[in-house]
Amino acid sequence: MTKKNRSLKTIKTVGVLCSGGDSPGMNCAIRAVIRTALGQGLAPYGIQKGYSGLLEGNIFKMNASSVGNIMQKGGTILQTSRCPEFFKAEIRKEAAHILRRKGIDSLVVIGGNGSYKGAMDLWREHHIPIIGLPGTIDNDVSASEYSIGFDTAVQTAVEAVDKIRDTASSHERTFIVEVMGRHSPAIALSVGVCTGAENIVLNSGTPDFEQIGQDILKGIKRGKNSSIIIVAEGKTPGSLAYSVRDKLKEKFKLNSHVCILGHIQRGGNPTPSDRLIASQMGFQAILCLKNGQFPYAIAVQNGKVVPVTLEESIKDKNSPDSLLINLARTLSI
Ligand code: ADP
Repeated sequence: MTKKNRSLKTIKTVGVLCSGGDSPGMNCAIRAVIRTALGQGLAPYGIQKGYSGLLEGNIFKMNASSVGNIMQKGGTILQTSRCPEFFKAEIRKEAAHILRRKGIDSLVVIGGNGSYKGAMDLWREHHIPIIGLPGTIDNDVSASEYSIGFDTAVQTAVEAVDKIRDTASSHERTFIVEVMGRHSPAIALSVGVCTGAENIVLNSGTPDFEQIGQDILKGIKRGKNSSIIIVAEGKTPGSLAYSVRDKLKEKFKLNSHVCILGHIQRGGNPTPSDRLIASQMGFQAILCLKNGQFPYAIAVQNGKVVPVTLEESIKDKNSPDSLLINLARTLSI
């Protein structure tokens, strides 16, 4: 009997957990996983606080009512965590034992690239049938055009920048607005294009301060009464944004104000788009388990929600989107 068939025969239960940073829409994915599992005759379990909760045995049975009235809520009812211990093979072995002891024979992991790597290890080392769902505002999961929470985060940031533009125009000011993204430029690029930002500073390589300063001066000369520079989060919150402010002052004598949007981008009611995609992804995750398609991740490719191998989903995502960079530059003159 193959490894796949052996696992397929035994799937009667499924556990679901969220790992890494939370993102709006995770609740929709949890709801879809639980309700589809029930429809497919699998007993669903919730695992609280990600891999840490798994290691603590923080696992409980769920039913259709456990996920009632949650899809409009941001955050995750299961909570999430970062679990550095999970990098160790002996700790993952313990996690696999706990799952088996609790009678959980398959797992849906909602998280980003790091969470997927942990999931892949659980499959490789302990043959736990596993499906990943991309839950991160950063939209940096490989093999998927989209991750749950990205649309909501962009909407939150765009609304904030629109408000900043009002005051920037009234006072003829330059604002440097930092958006989230850790190592990903995705939020910065989308927010930059959607707010008509004069410049977008990405978190890879050294920013071209000369170009940024010249662009602002050119705008002022043309009669612009405000400038917005969108900066992707650097190594630590604020680091890149404040270095742009300091360089503009030093090289061009330009005064600017820094605004760090921070964690508000993680919260809030998920947009319809996030709700729809998360629901489709949760549904597909259970169908994959039922059909013996694992280890897989659910992705958006060519606008459709489809299963892809977990192997291709843990590669580093190619970034940034050069078409969006070009678009932003072309339109921001
Ligand atoms: P995200 O899943 O959003 O990318 P992290 O990178 O913080 O967030 O990863 C979340 C958790 O996934 C980590 O705290 C750790 O428990 C687990 N993890 C991350 N990378 C690995 C890895 N290479 N091997 C095993 N587990 C990992």
